[in-house]
Amino acid sequence: MSEKNPIQELSEQLSRIPGLGKKSAVRMVYHLLKTSPDFSRQLGANLMQLHEKVKRCKICGHFSGSEICPICSDPSRDRKTICVVEHDQDLMTIENSGQFRGIFHVMHGVLSPIDGIGPEKLGLDSLKRRVLNEGIQEIIIATNPTPEGDTTALYIVKIMEEMRVTITRIATGLPVGGDIEYADRLTIARSFHARMSMKE
Ligand SMILES: [Zn+2]
Repeated sequence: MSEKNPIQELSEQLSRIPGLGKKSAVRMVYHLLKTSPDFSRQLGANLMQLHEKVKRCKICGHFSGSEICPICSDPSRDRKTICVVEHDQDLMTIENSGQFRGIFHVMHGVLSPIDGIGPEKLGLDSLKRRVLNEGIQEIIIATNPTPEGDTTALYIVKIMEEMRVTITRIATGLPVGGDIEYADRLTIARSFHARMSMKE
């Protein structure tokens, strides 16, 4: 029986991470072999604890090392404006742009019936509750300009129909099919300033 080659095994596993191709994965493994074993041990320890240590924030869904994430627990944030994003990476891009001082709701996806992703998986009930109970005045939808992003935005407008909340969507400046995650600071700034009304 032939044993699995550990280099091959690890690089195959790493190459499944989005953005890491087969070549970079192999390069990474060789780099680790050349670096001090302590580095790999520490990396392994961090990976082993990742799922135990990082949880979704109980309020906004953002991955965080604490039950309530630093954004939700920051008293200086504007709690009347909530920005709805697809993924944590989008939240980070918006945070790094410094253009938004409100709070977030991270859906961890978009509506996609084909993949079995319905509103319950996106935490939209919890979003509705927050709007009802926390005096939120504006929802800024920052879904990506894709068909699923559009459908999800329209769905949010629909479930908030009876609520006294303004809904806007960032759009201008983001190229069609362009992801928020990769947008630069200026593009994010423009898209927030020129956000369009979806519901008064
Ligand atoms: Zn949070």
